[in-house]
Amino acid sequence: MSNPIRLVIFGRQGAGKGTQCAHLVERYGVAHISTGDMLRGAVASGTEMGLLAKKVMDAGDLVSDEIINGIVRERLAQDDATTVGFVLDGYPRTIGQAEVLTEILGDRPLHAVVDLDVPLEEVTARMKARGRADDTEDGIARRLELYEQETRPVLNWFAERGLLVTVDGFEDEDVVTSRLEEAVNAAIEAPCC
Ligand code: AMP
Repeated sequence: MSNPIRLVIFGRQGAGKGTQCAHLVERYGVAHISTGDMLRGAVASGTEMGLLAKKVMDAGDLVSDEIINGIVRERLAQDDATTVGFVLDGYPRTIGQAEVLTEILGDRPLHAVVDLDVPLEEVTARMKARGRADDTEDGIARRLELYEQETRPVLNWFAERGLLVTVDGFEDEDVVTSRLEEAVNAAIEAPCC
């Protein structure tokens, strides 16, 4: 069996991360771990944590590091994550989360952190067209603002550690997919991993 591949994908909400993650799953067999999907799942099944998260998500705010780190820690301990690897989507979103992730991974570090780069005007238009429950005008604006405030520093944190690869995501889906594959292949083949 081939070695597990460990990736994180970044991008503003609406940058096409979900779509590109599906391609990564198909191409590399990794588990797609989306904290947004996991939280929406908890909301849908009406768990206590889901009820708590719902309010925060509806306001476009971030769920506490404590809750989200706990969810991710559990998920990354599952068999698929340790054997085939994973692509993390929507996590880490704060420096605190990035530090905990590094601690969780220990001696099985990330191969690459990819930033799927799509301009602000384009993602705003895409999200308005998408019409998800939390895609209200205020919700969109709040999430994009938070992305700059909280998540941009996380990208810089990974860049300082030599892990960040930026992929231009403002192109047709298949073009973006092949750019992404190129970036991931280069990271997997790099001598450090
Ligand atoms: P997403 O689908 O990634 O846009 O996530 C939807 C919502 O879930 C976000 O607006 C946050 O409220 C919450 N969320 C998802 N991932 C995280 C995270 N890593 N840290 C805090 N909140 C999160």
